[in-house]
Amino acid sequence: MIKVTILGTAGSSPAKDRGMPSVALTYEGETLLFDCGEGTQMQLLKFGVNPSKIKAIFLSHIHGDHVIGIAGLVRTMALNSRQDDLKIFVPAGSEKAVKSLLSFDKAIISYEIKVIGMTRGEIYKAKDYSIRAFSLEHTIPTYGFAFKEKDKKRFIIEKCKKLGMKGVMFSEIQQKGSIIINGKKVSIDSVTTVNPGRKIVYVTDTRPARQTVTNAKNADLIIHEASYMDSERNLASSRKHSTAKEAAQIAKKAGARKLVLTHISARYKDPQALLNDTKQIFPNTIVAKDGYHIFI
Ligand SMILES: [Zn+2]
Ligand SMILES: [Zn+2]
Repeated sequence: MIKVTILGTAGSSPAKDRGMPSVALTYEGETLLFDCGEGTQMQLLKFGVNPSKIKAIFLSHIHGDHVIGIAGLVRTMALNSRQDDLKIFVPAGSEKAVKSLLSFDKAIISYEIKVIGMTRGEIYKAKDYSIRAFSLEHTIPTYGFAFKEKDKKRFIIEKCKKLGMKGVMFSEIQQKGSIIINGKKVSIDSVTTVNPGRKIVYVTDTRPARQTVTNAKNADLIIHEASYMDSERNLASSRKHSTAKEAAQIAKKAGARKLVLTHISARYKDPQALLNDTKQIFPNTIVAKDGYHIFI
């Protein structure tokens, strides 16, 4: 199970019940954090995400609303005697700005923090998944992120039974690619099917971008900014943000399963109204609230 926790859903400035942007993704006991707006460490506490499990932080861009929370979070981790390294990915060229948040007060941070300047492409690789960064269209260099689990081969049990496969034959065929059963060569591809790995895409801040469609192809979940309603599309365009309608169009083009809208302007007292702009285009849309857990 992949657990996605939406920690903060405001854009630019907080609302009474909306914290600054951040999303946690937990996979097999490890957590990845996407953006770290002011107050993210409080949101982690509130919504039950353990900060000591955070392996890496991915910052979409260095506008203050997405990064200021780093300053508090890394210090709390030090107070909690963190030992593990922490990787922080930032758009290449923004390393200095993020490092200043880590060192301005000469705090003693007992573990190693690696600030890594990223460009497009695969930036992070673990045993069972990888993360790609792709360029977005905002006022400064900004990246979206695609988490992709590895595809997995699965045995077609009825077929295996029919051929008489049993015991060690399963590990043998996985290692060798083929085995002989009753004098007949059986290849791994003939007795397995591929289960595509899950894909989760995080996109903010940006105009609707072609690169998002490409990188979010068949995604299980797209978390996309929707700063504005369609009635304020001109504002969205001039400030290099997206409307809810534009986010829905992106999700539809990508063939995604589910869309979660976030980075909602504080001007909307009832953000659920954003769904009026999306239901005709992409019905499986929700407007995120702080603390939403989504299981994929
Ligand atoms: Zn923002
Ligand atoms: Zn921004």
